[in-house]
Amino acid sequence: MIGSARFGSLLVALAAGLAPAGREDPGRPPALATLREVVPGAWAWRPTRAGMDAVASCGGALATPEGLVLVDACANPKGLSAVLALVAEVSPAPVRRVVITHPHEDHEGGLPALGADVEVLRHPLPSADHELAPGLRVLHPGRGHTDSDLAVLARTPGGDVLYAGDLFVNGYVGYLGEGHLAEWGTTLRALATLAGGDARVVPGHGAVCGVDRLGFYADYIDDFRADVRRHFEAGGTVETYLLPARYDHLGARYFLPENVRRARALWEAGEL
Ligand SMILES: [Zn+2]
Repeated sequence: MIGSARFGSLLVALAAGLAPAGREDPGRPPALATLREVVPGAWAWRPTRAGMDAVASCGGALATPEGLVLVDACANPKGLSAVLALVAEVSPAPVRRVVITHPHEDHEGGLPALGADVEVLRHPLPSADHELAPGLRVLHPGRGHTDSDLAVLARTPGGDVLYAGDLFVNGYVGYLGEGHLAEWGTTLRALATLAGGDARVVPGHGAVCGVDRLGFYADYIDDFRADVRRHFEAGGTVETYLLPARYDHLGARYFLPENVRRARALWEAGEL
């Protein structure tokens, strides 16, 4: 769980994870999110600048014979309500279930916007590869961003879509402050194998992309782990560590001090 003090800095961090600004109607408040159909029957939302506090994270909606399944629930009820209005424009089906990928406020704070009849699913589920509906699986491929990450894999006639939660963020250093750094890369590669090379990937933050980006992020995590370990072994401190310049293109760098503190704690525990 990200505490409220930490969450404030998280919201600042998320400003970089925004959807491109859409056309704005001067008579209406700006949209808080964009919604796109990744493949027929599988949608992904992404916060706009106006939605950075309320929507904050990416998520999705999936059509099933029994109604819609949501993946994650935004940061607060205002955000999720805005997303639900966008979803209602593309599907008249009721929301039946929501999968919370992990217990961070920016992914679950909007849950009160859903009716009490909506089933909420979290880790642990009955199995690490749980079939929720035909072609729709909820996966716990191992520890990574937290110890309880879930991903959702939808296989549809129009293509496969993986909703990765914060196991994968696209274009950012990511928040590693509760991460299991020695396992995260392995978890991501297992997830990529399960998804298959043609899957589209909806990250926890950032733009929809191909499954190859999971490999990049896994390599980055492993590279950071090895680099920061060398730094500590050579007598370096949390304060003196610098992420290699080859990652200068990654945004949300305000997470770096906390990421290095996490690496230090794992190193001191012999778990890095
Ligand atoms: Zn998170």
